[in-house]
Amino acid sequence: MGSVNSLIRKNIRSLKPYSSARDEYQGDAAVFLDANENPYFAPLNRYPDPRQRSLRSVISGIKSIPDENIFLGNGSDEAIDILVRAFCEPGSDNIVSIDPTYGMYEVTAAINGVEFRKAPLGEDFCLDNREIRRMADRNTKIIFLCSPNNPTGNSLSKQEVEELLGWFGGLLVIDEAYIDFSSRPGFIDETLKTHNMAVLQTLSKGWGRAGIRLGMAFGNSEIIEVMNKIKPPYNINSLTAEEAVRTLGRAEEVRQHINEIICARDLLREKLDKIEYVEKIYPSDANFMLIRVVNADRIYEHLKAQKIIVRNRSNARGCENCLRITVGTAEENDRMLNAMRNYKPER
Ligand SMILES: *Cc1c(COP(=O)(O)O)cnc(C)c1O
Repeated sequence: MGSVNSLIRKNIRSLKPYSSARDEYQGDAAVFLDANENPYFAPLNRYPDPRQRSLRSVISGIKSIPDENIFLGNGSDEAIDILVRAFCEPGSDNIVSIDPTYGMYEVTAAINGVEFRKAPLGEDFCLDNREIRRMADRNTKIIFLCSPNNPTGNSLSKQEVEELLGWFGGLLVIDEAYIDFSSRPGFIDETLKTHNMAVLQTLSKGWGRAGIRLGMAFGNSEIIEVMNKIKPPYNINSLTAEEAVRTLGRAEEVRQHINEIICARDLLREKLDKIEYVEKIYPSDANFMLIRVVNADRIYEHLKAQKIIVRNRSNARGCENCLRITVGTAEENDRMLNAMRNYKPER
């Protein structure tokens, strides 16, 4: 297997990470006077475990991947930022991604002073490797893909992704924020078979825990090591770690919610299809649907006036007059549908 070592920025490769009190002594001492904590107000008076050992071992069991291949972040957004900072030299390296996709890759690249290049998706928002190859060059350190993709809802072809991996020498990152709603397998297993691929997942969507901020990255141990090396020492707080363990222990309940959302999504599709000004409903492997309407701005405003908020994606490439609608509860979906039905197109 190859190595990502040569892809890592020089200053990061030579970085000696901050070593916290909790890194240096990990035993079960009787008296802890090493971290300048307040001795009262237990248990949250103590710093959390910087290595998140108990939470990572729970995730390891659920995802069937060793602990050393798991990075945890303050949301996947932190994992995205850390990947950019570990691999991309500001001013000279670049990142390639698909268009349209999740906006955070571009924002994070811009914050870090890294050039961001957008490869248009093809027909029906399919991955077009020719476009990616056209955009990428020897300074491309990361390719960000998103599958199922936001805002389009479709999964990218496994075959195309594998072809890309066979050709690309940098780090290929697949954001699987919506994988729990998809019937297709994700790419976690592939990350262990190759040196230059990472998968991002999150508790924010399928697991119903956007509020606690927990993102996960999976990859070969070299990738995970460098991510852990540059993360803030205590990036996962104790409350988040505890709630995450509780939530992951309720996997069956979560599965039921997900199944309900998938049923509601399919029902919503049927009902939206009967609205005459809905011109297209894109297929979705996620918990939202992209629909094309006659006039997205007007319909967005019409819904907003009834206190129903959807996402107007009209400005995204290939998404003219498109709204992205999250699947809610049956009641929420009905309210949205009723509001859509009483829209009167202006003549
Ligand atoms: C919602 C979403 C995320 C989640 O980010 P968190 O920081 O984990 O909440 C990541 N990627 C995509 C594509 C998303 O749509």
